[in-house]
Amino acid sequence: MGNNILVILPHPDDEAFGLSGTLAKLIVDGAHVTYACLTLGEMGRNMGIPPFANRVTLPVIRQAELEESCKAIGIQDLRLLGFHDKTIEFEDQPRLDGVIGSLLQEIKPTRVYTFYPGYSVHPDHDATGTAVVRTIQQLPLEERPEVHCLAFSRNCEQELGSPDVVEDVSMFMVQKMNSIQAHRSQFQAAELLGEKQMKAKEVEQRFGTERFWTYTFA
Ligand SMILES: [Zn+2]
Repeated sequence: MGNNILVILPHPDDEAFGLSGTLAKLIVDGAHVTYACLTLGEMGRNMGIPPFANRVTLPVIRQAELEESCKAIGIQDLRLLGFHDKTIEFEDQPRLDGVIGSLLQEIKPTRVYTFYPGYSVHPDHDATGTAVVRTIQQLPLEERPEVHCLAFSRNCEQELGSPDVVEDVSMFMVQKMNSIQAHRSQFQAAELLGEKQMKAKEVEQRFGTERFWTYTFA
């Protein structure tokens, strides 16, 4: 009953550091989460340390990693949208908006998570956030879900102000660490966390808080 959450991000692993704890928390509280991942991150340059992926196997490996991450978080519904990595900004706009619009129609989320347009560093991140905001803006006011955005450009706090949503996810460190570690082709963090055994307190300090900016429609 009005507890659907829709996450729209371009790359497998975008969820891990930024909002896996928040999602785990929402799911424990009864939310149903759909994660729509636009690409398989198939153009990524990291192949694991030591490398275990190559250009051909990378998308398959990253899909499996993403599935494992979703399982760790408890995400019930993963959608792979099949757009091309690194080119979201050049996608046919009506097509991209159409896909996002259909998801909104189907899921009727009360809240959407995405990247803050213009403050998310990678062009795919910004283009995804822009498309999500543009599509939601087309909806009648009363049908618009709230939009919680991730932002991490250097100027984001200066320009957007402090994040208005700060989630304490310290109770969800297990899910979050498992989500991060699932992406073993991408993160040295897997080594960092696994082998050096960061102290629980250190982990909490670094990862125990997740921050979002609620998007304000003009
Ligand atoms: Zn990304």
